[in-house]
Amino acid sequence: MSLDLKSSWEFSPAPESTSHVKIKKKYDLFIGGKWVKPKSGTYFKTINPATEEVLAEVAEAGEEDVDLAIKAARKAYTQVWSKLSGKERGKYIFRIARLIQERAREFAVIETLDGGKPIREARDIDIPLAAAHFFYYAGWADKLEYAFPNKKPKSLGVAVQITPWNFPMLMVAWKIAPALAAGNTVVLKPAETTPLTALKLAELIQDAGLPDGVVNIVTGYGKTGAMMVEHPDADKVAFTGSTGVGKIIMKAIAGTHKKSTMELGGKAANIIFEDAPIDQAVEGVVNGIFFNQGHVCCAGSRLFIQESVYEKVMRKLKDRMENLVVGDPLDKNTDVGAINSQKQLKVIEGYIKAGLDEGCEMYQPEHATLPKKGYWCKPTLFTNVAQSSKIAKEEIFGPVLAIQTFRTVDEVIAKANNTPYGLSAGVWSDKGSKVFNLTSKMKAGVVWANTYNKFDPTSPFGGYKESGHGREGGVQGLEPYLKFE
Ligand code: NAP
Ligand code: MG
Repeated sequence: MSLDLKSSWEFSPAPESTSHVKIKKKYDLFIGGKWVKPKSGTYFKTINPATEEVLAEVAEAGEEDVDLAIKAARKAYTQVWSKLSGKERGKYIFRIARLIQERAREFAVIETLDGGKPIREARDIDIPLAAAHFFYYAGWADKLEYAFPNKKPKSLGVAVQITPWNFPMLMVAWKIAPALAAGNTVVLKPAETTPLTALKLAELIQDAGLPDGVVNIVTGYGKTGAMMVEHPDADKVAFTGSTGVGKIIMKAIAGTHKKSTMELGGKAANIIFEDAPIDQAVEGVVNGIFFNQGHVCCAGSRLFIQESVYEKVMRKLKDRMENLVVGDPLDKNTDVGAINSQKQLKVIEGYIKAGLDEGCEMYQPEHATLPKKGYWCKPTLFTNVAQSSKIAKEEIFGPVLAIQTFRTVDEVIAKANNTPYGLSAGVWSDKGSKVFNLTSKMKAGVVWANTYNKFDPTSPFGGYKESGHGREGGVQGLEPYLKFE
C-alpha cells in the first residue's frame, strides 16, 4: 500500500540569515596579492538564480590580465614558494583551512546565493569538505618524500586551474590545496555563473598572509579559460568541466610540456538488486540525482532496477519524490534548489522534451509548485527508456532520472558500461560477493556500494574513458602536481 503523503508535509519557512554575509558590489581580479582592475575595463554580472537578482559585478580578464596573473604566479614560484620548506608551505595551507572553518557560514550562504544550491548542502557538504581538503593536503606538504619514496618529487611550477559551477568552492579546494602542498603556484578561474566563493577565498588568502602571487584568481568567460590554457608559461592545466571543453583543452595543449588533469562529465549507473535494502536504496537514488538539482558530475542519472523488485522500488521512489521540498535554496528544509542558470534550464528542458518525443514515460511529483521567479525544474523520472534513448546516453546535468530494468548480473554490467563515460556508479545489494564481482567489472573511477555521493579528501576521484584522466583527492591527487627524477 502506498501512503498518501501528498500535501501532508508542510514546513514553516526556515530561511538562513544573510545578515552576516558581505558581498562587494564589484570585484576586480586578484593578481599578485592585490585587487587589480581588468585592462579592458569590462565587468559582467553574477546573479542569484533563485531570484534573478544581481549579486555583484565581476571583472572579465583578457589576454593582458591573464599574462599578468601568470607572470605573478611565476615570480612567486621562483622567488618565494619554491624556496620554502614543505613544513612552511604546510603552515600556510593549514591557516587557509582554519580560516575557511571560521567563516564557513558566510561561505555557505554565498555559495547558495550565487549558485542556487540548497543551504543544507552548502553548509553540510561543500564548505566542510573544502576545509577538509585544505587540512588534508596541508598534512602532506612536508611528507612528499614519504608519499613517493626514492622518487625525489619536485614541483612543476605554475598551474592554471579551471573550475565548473556545480560545486564552486569545493572544486576550488580540490584544485588549490594539492597544488600548493606540492609546491606549485596557481592561477585559477571559477565558472562565470558562480565566481563569488572563489573571490571570497581570495580575501581570505590575503588575511592568511600567503605570499603575494602564490594564488591568483581571475574571472571571466570560457575565453579567459582558453587564454590561460594556451599561455606558454603554464606548466600544468587542471580542468573540471564538460567533456566537450575537455577535448578542446587537450587539443590546445597537445605537443607542449604541459601536464594535465581532466575531470569531465559522467552518466553514472545506479543499480538496485532484488536483495538490496530497498528503503536505503531509494534514499540513495534520490540523493544521487535530485539533491543539488542533479548538477553533479557523478549523479546517478541512470537507474537500473532488477525486474523482480521493479514495482516496489517505483512505488517507494514516487512516494519519496512527493516529499521532496523544491524551492528557496536558503530555506533549511529545501531538498531541491534552483537550476544554476537560464542556459542550463533550457538544456534540461530540451532533454525532457527529447524523452517525451522518444516515447519515454514521465513522472513528476504532483504537489511540487515552483516559484515564479528564477530557474526551476521539478524532479523528473522517465520509465520505458531504451539503451538508445537520448536521455539514457547523454549527460543532462539536471534532476532527470532515466530508469531501466534488468534480469541478470551480466546483463546489468553490460548495460551500465555501455556509455562513453566512466566516472562513477552505485550498487545496492545485501551480498558482499555480488558487490565485489560488480565493482571489479564496472568501468567507473568510483563505485559506491549501498551508499551514494560520499566524498572524502583521502579518497582519489576521477574518471575512465571520456570522463577524463588523472585523480584528485588522496595521495594520488598530489602526483599530477609533481615531477620525478
Ligand atoms: P564547462 O562549460 O566545460 O565549463 C567548465 C569551466 O571551463 C568553466 O570555468 C568555463 O568557463 C571554462 N571554459 C569554457 N570554455 C573553455 C575553453 N574553451 N577553454 C578553457 N576553459 C573553458 O562545464 P560546466 O557547464 O561549467 O560544468 C558542468 C560540467 O562539469 C559537467 O559536464 C560535469 O560533469 C563536469 N564536472 C565534472 C566533475 C568531475 O570531477 N569529473 C566535477 C564537476 C563537474 P565559463 O563558466 O565562464 O563558461
Ligand atoms: Mg551566480
